[in-house]
Amino acid sequence: MNRPTLDATTRLLLVAAPDAPAARGIARSLEETGCRVQAVEDSRAALDAFRHAAPDLVLIDLALADGSAVDLCRALRARPEGRRTPILMLHAADGSAADFAEACLAGATEFLEATGAGALIGHRLRTALELAADPGGGDVARAPSPAQPLPHDTESVQEVVFSAIDRTRGTDRHVAVLLVLLGDDEVELDESFEAHLQNALQAYVDRERLTPGRARVRLCRDDEGRFVIVAGDLTRIHDAAKLGRAVQDHVADARGGDRSGLCIGVATSPEDGKDANALLSAAEVAARRAREDGTGGLQFRNSSTNQWVFERLTLERSLEQAVENGELRVFYQPKVDIQSRQVVGMEALVRWQHPELGMVSPAQFIPLAEESGQIVQIGQWVLEEACRQCQAWIDEGYEPVRMAVNLSPMQFRQPDLLQVVRDTLRRTKLDPRHLELEVTESMLMQDLHQTIDTLRQLKDEGIYLSIDDFGTGYSSLSYLKGFPIDALKIDRSFVREITQNSDDAAIATSIILLGQNLNLKVIAEGVETESQLSFLRILQCDEIQGYLFSPPVPAEDVETFLDRR
Ligand code: C2E
Ligand code: MG
Ligand code: MG
Repeated sequence: MNRPTLDATTRLLLVAAPDAPAARGIARSLEETGCRVQAVEDSRAALDAFRHAAPDLVLIDLALADGSAVDLCRALRARPEGRRTPILMLHAADGSAADFAEACLAGATEFLEATGAGALIGHRLRTALELAADPGGGDVARAPSPAQPLPHDTESVQEVVFSAIDRTRGTDRHVAVLLVLLGDDEVELDESFEAHLQNALQAYVDRERLTPGRARVRLCRDDEGRFVIVAGDLTRIHDAAKLGRAVQDHVADARGGDRSGLCIGVATSPEDGKDANALLSAAEVAARRAREDGTGGLQFRNSSTNQWVFERLTLERSLEQAVENGELRVFYQPKVDIQSRQVVGMEALVRWQHPELGMVSPAQFIPLAEESGQIVQIGQWVLEEACRQCQAWIDEGYEPVRMAVNLSPMQFRQPDLLQVVRDTLRRTKLDPRHLELEVTESMLMQDLHQTIDTLRQLKDEGIYLSIDDFGTGYSSLSYLKGFPIDALKIDRSFVREITQNSDDAAIATSIILLGQNLNLKVIAEGVETESQLSFLRILQCDEIQGYLFSPPVPAEDVETFLDRR
């Protein structure tokens, strides 16, 4: 075997934090080892240099701002050429166990105390190069050696949990603590089991890399030698269940399909406690329950969370197939001119006919699809279907009506939204004048410049734009003036008691006056009674929509409301 050298032919990429002097300092001490050094000061420069210089070895200072050392390590490992490059993490003498654990999971090869003597640094670098050159060494990113430091006592586990909780304070993120137990106390949780868990976590982290807001995941052992997985920054509680499932699946695969006896108890913060001790004991209770129920399963501390999480996971999984399996349908609800009682439009509302659960309400699955990103595909399908139906009615000789389609926040932020809408109109041959897009008020208040741009482009196409659920968001009226919109839809919650509740009546009245002043049409949703209708007519609301006239129904049932040309 060619002995790896550490001389002028070896290139080093150095990343040092927090500043240039630190980078230069470390570079100088490395140059004493005889190799060439390239020093950079931040992750971005490091990634660039990595791509261009293809270094033989990378050093990353763990002190890089805000945990970015670990992210950089992960990013380098994600590159094909970075899979086998040794990555050494420089750390302070009092480096935190939590950081080490995270760096291990991110694929760090070795750790080096930043103040170490030059000779020691040279020796460590050489060893790291040898390890990388060893053909039996495997993929450094995927085969963590059992010798890597895990936080290994109750105190440091608490520290990891504490800092995870600390990081989510003031945010709407969750921390999950997963305690792993084997069904039988006699079975040793040995190092090979630890390697299985490390690999399971790595596989989970690799997979989740695809989704934004990926969780930070750490593996620790408490003083009883039990494994504790700490996941911070979770956007959704059921991500903890996904993580637990991934661990169970992966470990079972590694043990020849043996799923028996691996019990995981999950506690989440803030739901099950706001401090490390509370969370760890809650996870323990959950794990014992998982063990007692004999199924070797996954249990959340809180039983209603448990049920909720598993329902969501089941729904999310079956939603993935819903579009392909043709389980989605579009229903249509007429919009009626309040004076003439003529149908002037239709709103397309998606329905999910689940093979086992029956009809699942969009209020249930749209937010879920929004979180998982599936809404983009579903929304496009609804748009296509609604445009096709609208044109089909025109082709069949009905008077054209405006077809309204709801846009979800994620759809609205897609950079190719305009192109998708254009393509759909072209394919379905629908005139843009007959298409209405409904956006919600809260969507519009984020990133105002972009919002106005997007609305303007859609408006320039000739599309009718309305603000749905108006009155429930926090839009500033001065911004409203700048939005190129055509209509406001008064939210159903103000219509429900419009005849009894003076506050609701006042809000509806204000929205109608606002619409009149800004030259916008106003439409009331959720009109169920004649008295609501009369009230809205007195207020000179323009259009209504609601069960009074018709609930959302399949296309063939709504045709009775359309006029023949
Ligand atoms: P939305 O766009 O505000 O739609 C109005 C909701 O009120 C519909 O609920 C409709 O069935 C219901 N509704 C209409 N008239 C009445 C009434 O008189 N009384 C009562 N109690 N309810 C009435 P649905 O169909 O369950 O949809 C709920 C929400 O789900 C929609 O609210 C919309 O935000 C979302 N949604 C539905 N379809 C789609 C879709 O294709 N894409 C997107 N992004 N969101 C959708
Ligand atoms: Mg709507
Ligand atoms: Mg609405």
